[in-house]
Amino acid sequence: MAVPFRRTSKTVKRKRRTHFKLTAPGIATCPNCGEMKLSHRACRNCGQYKGRVVIEA
Ligand SMILES: [Zn+2]
Repeated sequence: MAVPFRRTSKTVKRKRRTHFKLTAPGIATCPNCGEMKLSHRACRNCGQYKGRVVIEA
């Protein structure tokens, strides 16, 4: 197995990690009940997705 020739310096490591960022989750309001929900996910409050009940309570 290939092994790195040199130890990665602190600066190089930190510069590489500048591209490593947190992203905010996609938050939307439910068109049915108005609760905050994650986009592309069924609503946790009313269980609807695309105007259709997908989770029975
Ligand atoms: Zn809802």
